[in-house]
Amino acid sequence: MVAMTIRRLPDALINQIAAGEVVERPASIVKELVENSLDAGATRIVVEIEQGGARRIRVRDDGCGIPKDSLALALTRHATSKIGSSDDLMKVATMGFRGEALPSVASVSRLRLSSRAATDESAWEVECDLDGAPTPPRPASHAVGTTVEVVDLFFNLPARRKFLRAERTEFDHVQQVVKRLALAHGNVAFELHHNRKAVFSWKPAPDGLSANRMRDVLGAGFAENAFEVDHHVDGMAISGWLAQPTFSRSQADMQYFYVNGRLVRDRLIAHAVKRAYSDVLYHGRHPAFVLFLTLDNELVDVNVHPAKTEVRFRESRRVYDAVYRTLATAIQAVRPGDDTIENSPSIPSNTTVSAGSWQGDRPFDNSAAGRGELTPLQATIGLSSAEVTNGSRISDVRGDYATLLADGPLGQPPAEVPALGLALAQIHGVFILAEAADGVVLVDMHAAHERITYERLKQQYAEQGVRSQPLLVPVTVALSEQEADIAEAHSSDFSRYGLGVDRSGPQHVTVREVPVLLRRVDAAALVRDVIADLNTTGGSQRLQADSDAVLSSMACHGSVRANRQLTRDEMNALLRDMETTPNSGQCNHGRPTWVRLDMRSLDALFLRGQ
Ligand code: ADP
Ligand code: MG
Repeated sequence: MVAMTIRRLPDALINQIAAGEVVERPASIVKELVENSLDAGATRIVVEIEQGGARRIRVRDDGCGIPKDSLALALTRHATSKIGSSDDLMKVATMGFRGEALPSVASVSRLRLSSRAATDESAWEVECDLDGAPTPPRPASHAVGTTVEVVDLFFNLPARRKFLRAERTEFDHVQQVVKRLALAHGNVAFELHHNRKAVFSWKPAPDGLSANRMRDVLGAGFAENAFEVDHHVDGMAISGWLAQPTFSRSQADMQYFYVNGRLVRDRLIAHAVKRAYSDVLYHGRHPAFVLFLTLDNELVDVNVHPAKTEVRFRESRRVYDAVYRTLATAIQAVRPGDDTIENSPSIPSNTTVSAGSWQGDRPFDNSAAGRGELTPLQATIGLSSAEVTNGSRISDVRGDYATLLADGPLGQPPAEVPALGLALAQIHGVFILAEAADGVVLVDMHAAHERITYERLKQQYAEQGVRSQPLLVPVTVALSEQEADIAEAHSSDFSRYGLGVDRSGPQHVTVREVPVLLRRVDAAALVRDVIADLNTTGGSQRLQADSDAVLSSMACHGSVRANRQLTRDEMNALLRDMETTPNSGQCNHGRPTWVRLDMRSLDALFLRGQ
C-alpha cells in the first residue's frame, strides 16, 4: 500500500469543519449571536430573520461593542475576549469562551460585523472575503453596540444547504432558541421578526427574574398552573417555576433547566426532577418546569460540548441531592386535595373491601416491618406480610368478605361464567376481583379501561374520525401562542380526533366538541396533550403525527383513575368489554391488565391436598 500524504488543511476548510459542530441550522447561529450580545451586556436584542434564516439572520444589540482594531480579530479562529488562561477555563462566567462562533459562521455564509465600542468616536464594519479573511475596517453608522448580519447560509456548501428544512420549520427552531435565552434573561428586552413582521417584543423586567417573562414565553396556561420555587441550599440557589402535577404533559416538551443562566440538557437533573414528581405523576406523564440552578462557576465544567449545551458538575451527587430535595419538598408543600392528583399512593377511604379495616396502612406495605416477614408463598400473590400475619386484621377481612358474599349475586357460582368471571369487589380502588369458572381473576381497572378506550378510538378514527359531542359549556384553554397557532392551523386534524377547537385569542383556544368516549375528561388537559403530541411528532407545519400515539395518550385521559368507586354493574361491564376488545390483555404501555389464579394455585397457597 502506498503511504498516504499528510497535509495541513487551509484555514478556510478548518473553519468549515468547525462550523459543522457549531452551525447545524439557522437556529444554532442565532444562539451563538444572541449569546454574544448577552455577554456584551446588552439590554436590548433584536433578532431579524428572513426565509427561516437561510436568506438572512441579523442580530443587533446595544452592548459594549467591539473596538475598531479588534473587529478583524473577532472573526479569527480561537480569538476571544472572554478567557485568557486555563485557569479562566475552570470558571467561565460568560456564555461564550471558545472563540469559534464568528469565524465558523463566517466560513459558511456572507457575514458582516458592524460595531461601535463605547470608547470609539464612530462605528466600523468588516466583512469576510471569499477566502474567509476579514476585510480592513471601513466607516459605518451604528450606535454603541453591535450588529452581526449573516446572509445566504451555506451558499458555498450546497450539500449542507439541502439539509435545511422548510422555512417554517427552521423559523420555529429559531423562535425556540430565542425564547429559551429570553426566559433566562428577563432583564433584557427581546424582539423577534420574521420576513419583516414582528413576531414578539418582550419588555425587560427591572428585577430580572420575572414572572412576566415566564408568562410571555410559556403562555398563560403554564403561568396559571405553576408555583414558584426559590431555595438556597448547600451553597447553591435553585429557583424557577414548577407546574402543578395536574398540569403534566404527554411529552417532555416543557422542561427548561439552566445552569448559571445557560440552558443545558442533563440526564442527572432530569432524573432528579422526575423522581421528585414521581409520587404525584401518573406513569408516562412528564412534568413541566423552568429551573435555574446557580452555583459557583468553579463547580461546573462548561467545556464539554462544542455547542455548549451540556455541562459537567464537579460534584454531581451534591447537585442531584439539592435539586431532588428542594423539588420534592416544594411539590409536597403545594399538594392539593388527593383526588386532583392522579395515582395518589395514599389509601382511599372509600374502597369496598378495606372500609374500616386497614386504618391508614398503605395497600402495599413497603415498610421494613412489612418487608421483613414476607414468606415466598405470600409474595407470589402480592400480599404484604402485615396483612397476613396480623391475626386481628385477617378476621376483619373475613368479616367483610362474608358480608360481601351475602349481599352479592355470587353465593353460588352461576351456571354460565364468562371468561373473566363476575365481579365480586373493588380492591383498594385499583383492582377488580372477579370469580371465574376456575378460580379468581384480578383486573387492573385503569389499565384495562385505557386499553378498551384506545381500541375504540382507533376504530372510530379509522372509520369516519372519532365521534364527538358538543360540550354544554365550551371550555377556554390558555396556551402559549405557538400552541394556539398549531391548534388553529390544524383544526381539521383536530376534528378527526373528535375535538372541535377554535382560536379565541392570541394565547387561547375554545373547545366546543370532545370525543363521546372522553366526554367526562378535563377538556383543557386533553387539548394540551394532543397539541404537544402533534407538535413533537410532526413539527408545527407538517402534521405527520403517528395517530396511534395521539389516540393512546387521549385514551389515557379517558380511563378510570385509581380510587374511583365503581358499581358492581360498572365492573361487570368493564369485564365484558375486555372479553371482546382486541389486545385487552395488555395496557397501552404493554403491562398486563389482568391475572388469573386458578383453583390449583389457590389450593397450593393453602397447602391443600399436599
Ligand atoms: P466567544 O464568544 O467564544 O468569545 P465568538 O466567535 O462568538 O467567540 O466571538 C469572538 C469575540 O468577538 C468575543 O470574544 C467578543 O469579544 C467579540 N464579540 C462577538 N460578538 C460581540 C457582540 N455582540 N458585542 C461585543 N463583542 C462581541
Ligand atoms: Mg460567542
